[in-house]
Amino acid sequence: MKFAFCGTILVLTYVMMLIFTYGMRITYEKKIMEQKMNSVQNQCNILANQIVNNNYFMKDSVHTLDSEIEQLASIFSGRIMVVDDKFQIQKDTYTLDQGKYMLGGNVIKAMEGEDIRRYFKKEQYLEIITPITNNTTGEEVGVIICTASTQDVDNVMAHVKSRNKVLYLIFFIVCSIVAIWLSNLLTKQLKVFVEAIHRIADGHMDETIKLKGYTEIKDMADAFNEILNKLNTLENSRQEFVSNVSHELKTPITSIKVLADSLLAQEDAPAEMYREFMEDIVDEIDRENDIINDLLSLVKMDKKASDLNIETINVNELLELLLKRLRPLAAKRNIEIVYESFRPVNAEIDKVKLSLAFSNLIENAIKYNKDDGWVRVSLNADHKFFYVKVTDSGIGIPEDCQDQVFERFYRVDKARSRETGGTGLGLSITRNAILMHKGAIKVHSKEGEGTTFTVRLPLTYVV
Ligand code: ADP
Repeated sequence: MKFAFCGTILVLTYVMMLIFTYGMRITYEKKIMEQKMNSVQNQCNILANQIVNNNYFMKDSVHTLDSEIEQLASIFSGRIMVVDDKFQIQKDTYTLDQGKYMLGGNVIKAMEGEDIRRYFKKEQYLEIITPITNNTTGEEVGVIICTASTQDVDNVMAHVKSRNKVLYLIFFIVCSIVAIWLSNLLTKQLKVFVEAIHRIADGHMDETIKLKGYTEIKDMADAFNEILNKLNTLENSRQEFVSNVSHELKTPITSIKVLADSLLAQEDAPAEMYREFMEDIVDEIDRENDIINDLLSLVKMDKKASDLNIETINVNELLELLLKRLRPLAAKRNIEIVYESFRPVNAEIDKVKLSLAFSNLIENAIKYNKDDGWVRVSLNADHKFFYVKVTDSGIGIPEDCQDQVFERFYRVDKARSRETGGTGLGLSITRNAILMHKGAIKVHSKEGEGTTFTVRLPLTYVV
């Protein structure tokens, strides 16, 4: 990136410099050429006046101007020809064509009063044809053809060119320094960024990237820190989950070991004692089994939504079936179960997963209830969603625990939950199943008065 950036700046500025200096040179050359032409033209005009004033073309006039013409031609390092109105060359500083006739197109044009200027770049000379006008009659009495060498202009331009080369070199050096400095400045922060990423990749996950300077790079660092934060949170919750799972799985095994050890330690233990201890051991094994089953359910609910087995289900019938299964459990403590259905509801759901979610809620409403209490399950719907509400007259959930009840292994009262055979995974499983269906669950509770869980689920499943 550094080299690409540096190279781009250099190439761009250099090309711009070339275009700029080329443009400048052309304008400059044009300007001095114009000046040169003007000066030659002026001299020719003066000469034309003198020719008229001295009656140069009179047959018997003495050509006193000749030496002046010769001198001017030598100043121009060129040639001057004076042509009269009969197109005959009266004076040629090269003497070659003296007396001959000159009938070129440009000479005719000049004879009609037009100034002709031509520049022959390659041949390094310019040609100016000036009409000689009689001031009193206003008629053209001849023309002056003047060719002047432009060697001096070319020399100046060559000098400018060589000066430019030095300028190019200085400019190139300055540009290189600026480009290197700029690319270093820009890539410095990226370098710090990359180094920090490498350190994080090496396992220093607690590190955050702190950068000062350009907003875009700072934003990038902030976004990266945010991802890192999320990763750390995820990692912490994973570690916590693993440690919770190990702890939960270990508890029944520890109890089993204690029970078995105490039996073994007693010689001649009575058969009733064996029976009693074995019953406890079976309870612990059941508990271990419950935890493992719940964990497996949780793993299933952690999968992607594409693992759902969606079918159109009559939710009224589904809830009635679940209540029928749970009524004996409620009856044991004389808890009344009321079912209210406001309308028939058919929804696209995964029957197995949502059955587990709803039975967890109803089972909890029974488990955490008072003897002779009640549980009310209601079903309602609008054009988009259906709502299941499970309300109980139970012990309630303290306000500060309400947010945490959906966490894995969280139990408000560990001892009570254990007594009722709870694993602390039921509500996590329920919430995951509902989230997989793109639904929502809320809890509303007052300690000592009861709890309401409200579930909202879409009637049609959209991937
Ligand atoms: P558990 O297997 O312990 O029942 P859950 O995840 O189903 O685990 O519930 C977590 C905790 O939330 C329970 O231990 C209990 O303390 C509390 N809880 C859940 N439902 C109710 C309810 N209806 N009334 C009072 N407390 C409840």
